[in-house]
This record gives sequence, structure tokens and C-alpha cells, in this order.
Amino acid sequence: MKHNHFIVRPGKKISLKDYHSAYTGKYKSSDEAAVRLKKDISRLAKLQDTLYAQNTHALLIIFQALDAAGKDSTIKHVMSGVNPQGTQVVSFKVPSPEERDHDYLWRSTKSLPERGRLGIFNRSYYEEVLVVRVHPELLSSQQLPGKTREKVIWKRRFDEINNFEHYLVENGIHVLKFFLNVAKEEQKRRFLARIETPEKNWKFSLADVKERQFWDDYMRAYEDVFNHTSTKWAPWYIIPADNKWFTHAAVAGVIISKLKSLQLSYPSLGEQHLKELSLAKEILAAEA
Ligand code: AMP
Ligand code: MG
Repeated sequence: MKHNHFIVRPGKKISLKDYHSAYTGKYKSSDEAAVRLKKDISRLAKLQDTLYAQNTHALLIIFQALDAAGKDSTIKHVMSGVNPQGTQVVSFKVPSPEERDHDYLWRSTKSLPERGRLGIFNRSYYEEVLVVRVHPELLSSQQLPGKTREKVIWKRRFDEINNFEHYLVENGIHVLKFFLNVAKEEQKRRFLARIETPEKNWKFSLADVKERQFWDDYMRAYEDVFNHTSTKWAPWYIIPADNKWFTHAAVAGVIISKLKSLQLSYPSLGEQHLKELSLAKEILAAEA
């Protein structure tokens, strides 16, 4: 699969309507994509094992999307083969009073993956230029000094986020950012399924339908995010999300390419360590 297809080229102005949410590439069915995903899940497990052993790089994987675009199911499926010990998933909700008493990157900084780990952000600091932009009253509750509340705040936050991500990448915390691009009609279908299926009821709240009424505002806010924060060091990927089976395969593919590009390797052991291994072998062999 060509991932270049999904990447938002840094410096290029994009419009979301040019991105097809129902695109499925060369796959004609969920079965075809499932074969690929199965292989990729075991590839991912091997790469993660090396990442963990080497303990040098970390990968931060950010998922952003509107409700019911498939963030949870993508995380569940794509990560189904990895070692839980090497993975950290954090879901960001409405900030708590403690979190609101800090700068807006504070809670994310605390949750960054350790070296050797895959860190997944289910929503992220990007909510600070998305939901907060669509609902400016949220900004009023942030206790910001007057000057920082001016209209330039969004451009300033974009710059801050770009700098933050640059800092991370330069320090070996690589950043992948996925937007799961679902059509408005498909969201409605999924909401109705959540309402009509008892096992899915818990996933639905009236607030989701109310938020849907801000769809166009969200599209504008997302476009602005892509046009300002898709950088060479941390580009955005806009993943077609009307077919979950395609979303899962596409996301797995991008993560694998990224890990491969890091040229991970198991740590090479020093002479002393090798000597200790053969000594340990002798001791074990000497046990009657
Ligand atoms: P869910 O992902 O469905 O559990 O919902 C989490 C909710 O938290 C969403 O409505 C987000 O918009 C909201 N949220 C996440 N981060 C922030 C933030 N920084 N400021 C305000 N709301 C947020
Ligand atoms: Mg929700």
C-alpha cells in the first residue's frame, strides 16, 4: 500500500473534501485486507520486540477524529499482537481541574512513552486547537493571561506544537499522527447502530449528536491543523475511515514503515556480557 497517498505534504494547503473517506485502495473486500493485516500484526510484534530490547527510540502514535470514526477499534485491532508491556495507551478526556491549572501540554508530557515503547494517544493536545477552537467558551475556562487569549492564539499554538514535536523527534521520541476521516453519513449510520444495539449503547451519548451539529466547524478546524502542523518531522496521515477494515490495514502499514525506517536492532553485547553467558552456561551444565 502506498502511504504517500495519505500523507499531508508539509507546506501544502489541503482541503478535506479532496480526501475520499470510502477509499479502499487495491483491496476489494474486508477479507483481502484482513490477510494483509494479519501479516502486519505479526510484523509489528517483531518490530516492537526490537524497539523494546534496544530501548533507544520510542514511537508516539496520535489518533484524532470525530466521534465514531473508529479510534478505539483501530487501536484494539492494530495493537492486538503487541506485547502489552511495551505499549502505553492514554485516552484524553475533558481536562480535570488539576490539568486545567497547568499549561495545555502538561498532561501530555506526563504521558509520553518511555524509550523502547509504543505510546498511543487516543485524542491528544490537538484537542486544544480543535474542540477548544470550535467551542471558544472552553478557552475562557483555561485561566489564561489576557494577552495569550488574543485571536493569534491558534497560530501560536500551532507553532508551539510544531516545536514540541520537533523537540520530541530530536530526542528519539518519533511522532505519527493519524486523522481517521469518516463521512458524515457514515457517522450517522454508526450512531444509529450504537443506539439500536444494546451492547453498543454505552458508547453513545446525546452529546455526540449535539457535537455532530458542529461538523463544518470541525472540518475547518481540522483543515487548519493539517495545514499548519503537518511537518517534515511529524506529518499528518489522513486515513479513509468509512470502512474499518481498510482503516486498520492502512494504519498498521504506516506504523510498520515508520518502525522500519528507524533501522532498529537488538543491542550488541559486549565481550564481558558474552563471557558471562558462557560462564552461566557452564554453571548450569555442571548442575547434576
Ligand atoms: P471520548 O473520546 O468519546 O471519550 O470523549 C472525550 C471528550 O473529551 C471529547 O468530547 C473531547 O472533545 C473532550 N476533550 C479531550 N481533550 C479535551 C481538551 N483538551 N479540552 C476540552 N475537551 C477535551
Ligand atoms: Mg465519545
